[in-house]
Amino acid sequence: MPFAYDDQNIFAKILRGEIPNDTVLETDHTLAFNDITPQAPVHVLVIPKGSYVCHDHFAAEASDAELVDFARVTARIVAEKGLSPGGNGKGYRTISNAGSHGVQEVPHYHLHILGGRAMGRMLQKD
Ligand code: AMP
Repeated sequence: MPFAYDDQNIFAKILRGEIPNDTVLETDHTLAFNDITPQAPVHVLVIPKGSYVCHDHFAAEASDAELVDFARVTARIVAEKGLSPGGNGKGYRTISNAGSHGVQEVPHYHLHILGGRAMGRMLQKD
């Protein structure tokens, strides 16, 4: 079954300029902005400008240009925030929630970049 994209989701409204965002980086294909409820000193959301619901939708259907741009934007943010283990940073975590089991709240694909503190174990048992 094809993905059904809800264009009334909050990130779609951000992309249309209907609600504000705290932009970190913007390119032709990608927007990155600070999470409104940060879970760490650095908490940036990276989203494609295209209408993709979740990671596997984006990975399967985005163009090469969109895919590369998204990856490069993510790397630039990690570098610019001083998080990269390759640049003496202490590291970070990326998370992408998908669907109900992934507890995805906003149905527009997004990658969380979290850093600036130790993240703890990857998953809780609950
Ligand atoms: P997820 O559970 O992966 O769908 O996460 C959605 C994230 O979007 C949460 O971390 C929210 O804090 C964040 N969020 C929701 N609305 C906004 C907004 N208007 N601007 C920035 N971040 C938002």
